[in-house]
Amino acid sequence: MTTQKPLTTALISTPEQLSHALDIPLAPLQAIHAKYPLRISPYYLELIKKTGLPLWRQAVPDIRELDDPIGLSDPLDEEHLSPVPFLVHKYPDRALFLICSECAMYCRFCTRKRKVGKSEMRITDETIALGLEYLEKTPAITDVLLSGGDPLMLSDDRLERILKALRSIPSIATIRIGTRIPCTLPMRVTPRLAGMLKKYHPLYINTHFNHPAEITPEATLACKRLADAGIPLGCQTVLLRGVNDSPDIIRQLMYLLLQIRIKPYYLFQADLTQGTSHFRTTIDTGLDIMHHLIGHISGMAVPTYALDAPGGGGKIPLTPDYIKSLNQTLEFSTYRGTSCSYPNEITP
Ligand SMILES: *Cc1c(COP(=O)(O)O)cnc(C)c1O
Ligand code: SF4
Repeated sequence: MTTQKPLTTALISTPEQLSHALDIPLAPLQAIHAKYPLRISPYYLELIKKTGLPLWRQAVPDIRELDDPIGLSDPLDEEHLSPVPFLVHKYPDRALFLICSECAMYCRFCTRKRKVGKSEMRITDETIALGLEYLEKTPAITDVLLSGGDPLMLSDDRLERILKALRSIPSIATIRIGTRIPCTLPMRVTPRLAGMLKKYHPLYINTHFNHPAEITPEATLACKRLADAGIPLGCQTVLLRGVNDSPDIIRQLMYLLLQIRIKPYYLFQADLTQGTSHFRTTIDTGLDIMHHLIGHISGMAVPTYALDAPGGGGKIPLTPDYIKSLNQTLEFSTYRGTSCSYPNEITP
């Protein structure tokens, strides 16, 4: 697998390097590393040093990852929903195509923690070819989501070969790339990369920012390059305990995303992934945050709070309940909490 050599060789990937960089004990890092990979870019490491815990917790291994009695290895049942390796076909019209096993950072809360960054996740020319073949013979799929791992860890040339192959399949209308690179390694988003991507429109990118401190000048430039290439940008934030589980932090993040030309897409309830239980909030926490957003801030800045159903049932939106009763009249409360009604009838 070809990757961006000059940028990726500088990544911190061993317990020894991280122990040294942050001056923390080596033994716990080694124990966790035996089960889950670790990786942090020098850029994100500097942000951690500047910001502290909310970023630290996303990136630095925590011993609680090894002591999680309730988590599930594959919470979304992706393996059962894969007709060919590394392609998840869960919804009728769209598919998730995993084209890279690596990321610039291994987020401690990752839903695919079971395999991302591990040697078992062997994505090859053959698995890519099998995925393309499946997409070709399944014309019901019109929207392909490229993910991994992080697709932007591939070299420009390798990624372009995949995009070109996808564009040769007439049934595929839209292509989406899910990537955390604009947040974790923004310098990877070069003018050359943006210039390549713009040849494959309609192409959408969903980024992944979780905290206001991640909206830096570097991230702003990366998003400007993508947006100037005509790529609509979204963000899939994960609600994480001890990172962003408060209305103030999420409100600030959503506003900053709009300023760097990203339209917030999803706010995800954390999945039931093994090794990540210490990150989970209650559903009430998420609903309370949404209650503080809806109506109070620009609708453009309000994401959909969603839960990905365990067992592969798909995403469902979670919305605070404004409806009090619905009979001949809808009785509801406004975002301010006042009561209001609306007739639930049509004139004869
Ligand atoms: C999230 C997801 C999608 C895309 O869902 P949208 O709601 O359209 O963003 C598609 N396939 C799989 C397997 C997914 O997990
Ligand atoms: S960037 Fe995405 S796929 Fe990679 S470790 Fe983080 S959450 Fe997982």
